[in-house]
Amino acid sequence: MTTPVYENFINGHFLKNQTGDTFAVKNPATDEVIYHVEIADEFIQNAAIESAKQGFAAWSAMTPIERSRILLKAVAILRERNDELAKVEVLDTGKPWQEAECVDVETGADVIEYFAGLAPAQVGQQQMVGNDFYYTRKEPLGICAGIGAWNYPLQIACWKSGPALAAGNAVIFKPSEETPLGAIKLAEIFIEAGVPAGVFNVVQGAAEVGQWLTANPNIEKVSFTGEVGTGKKVMASAAGSLKDVTMELGGKSPLLVFDDADVSQAVSAAMLGNFYTQGEICTNCTRIYVHKNVYQQFIDELKTRTEQNIIAGDPMDPEVNLGALISKKHQELVLGYIDKGIQEGATLLTGGKALSPASAPNGYFVEPTVFVDCKDDMTIVKEEIFGPVMSVLVFDDEDDVILRANDTHLGLAAGVFTKDIQRAHRVIHQLQAGICWINSYGNSPAEMPVGGYKQSGIGRENGIETLDHYTQTKSIYVGMSNIESPF
Ligand code: NDP
Repeated sequence: MTTPVYENFINGHFLKNQTGDTFAVKNPATDEVIYHVEIADEFIQNAAIESAKQGFAAWSAMTPIERSRILLKAVAILRERNDELAKVEVLDTGKPWQEAECVDVETGADVIEYFAGLAPAQVGQQQMVGNDFYYTRKEPLGICAGIGAWNYPLQIACWKSGPALAAGNAVIFKPSEETPLGAIKLAEIFIEAGVPAGVFNVVQGAAEVGQWLTANPNIEKVSFTGEVGTGKKVMASAAGSLKDVTMELGGKSPLLVFDDADVSQAVSAAMLGNFYTQGEICTNCTRIYVHKNVYQQFIDELKTRTEQNIIAGDPMDPEVNLGALISKKHQELVLGYIDKGIQEGATLLTGGKALSPASAPNGYFVEPTVFVDCKDDMTIVKEEIFGPVMSVLVFDDEDDVILRANDTHLGLAAGVFTKDIQRAHRVIHQLQAGICWINSYGNSPAEMPVGGYKQSGIGRENGIETLDHYTQTKSIYVGMSNIESPF
């Protein structure tokens, strides 16, 4: 059986590369190649820059309200095609249909809708300075690059293109080599909605293509989602032409469960924050600190619900709520961390092995895994695993647990469960993390800015301030009287 071959998407259409080089994409749930994609060679890269220059000229000349109207059409198409697009995401990522069907496309569309709404409301300032005055204009940056991770491919493409396009920029987007199709679908939808050719281009390939984007002097900004280590390389390369950067990187986020918390709710949050999308979510609360008075109750309920309520299998089965990890390599990495947890003395409460469900026997599954009696210096407590592996730790003092929670170079997210309203805010205000939840975990609406403290990131996505990250301020001084000159 022949599989489709997708070309790069440049200047409003698919464009064949010259080298003929391709890469294969596998369905993580079956280990089968589902399609091939052409790699962006030099010809494609040059074409992408030319296309984006033309796209930028046309798009930035439109009024914000015209751009907004077109983007809202794209939002409507995204929603109409929800199921088709959700299926693309399931086949590319291995995540359960029951998630993709209601989250991936929906949250992507929400963000484009949000920024489409804000675009016409962006205003400059005006101020009198004596008889003279100045005013400012919010101008787009030019060509922006987006580089995406593989866990939420379509959503990431929407989250990066939404504010960039609303502000009048053109985009060259590189999805992860593991999950290239969602961004192509988005590019087609933008064209169908009336976004001019060249405004949103998709280039395909691995790190080399990302490196080309970060180094290219025609590109004004890079918005990157991925690992901390890659983020550092991207930033170093972007510095060569002083590009603006947004970095959405990894985390090792703490969840603090106090002894007055609703323990069942805290267990729900811990499970969502470790097993949703089979644990491949950057904000996951992979360090769960539980107060000693409710520790036993917490782990008893956690064990029961993990063993009884999780269904792994063919991700397209609507009953399945645990999908396959992205690749064999990643499955091995996650299993390696689990071995390390055992070697370093953590107690395995449940899980710990690869899974081979009857409906998807060749998929890269890992059992939902919970380690208890963990210590702060264990590798599984310190390093991001990006799989369904939870570490539970015990605490008995508020100040001490805050110190422990903050003792990391990462600072993406954090959560607190308590019924004491003052403690909730007091503790959250001391946690060094950019995205925090009280008696909740994981929600990320378009209106709320998200991004990391410390080495988890730079800049924010979503929320009003993000539009500013895609514009530059031009100040214009207007003389109203004769110039006084000593010359
Ligand atoms: P990677 O850092 O491996 O890759 C991210 C993207 O960068 C991919 O498109 C990759 O291409 C590309 N890339 C790799 N090397 C370079 C380079 N030198 N220059 C430019 N681009 C490059 O991350 P993963 O895809 O493995 O994603 C998982 C990580 O993403 C986790 O750490 C997770 O925490 C983080 N993440 C953060 C989020 C946030 O919002 N904070 C959200 C989602 C994930 P290719 O894959 O094709 O090689």
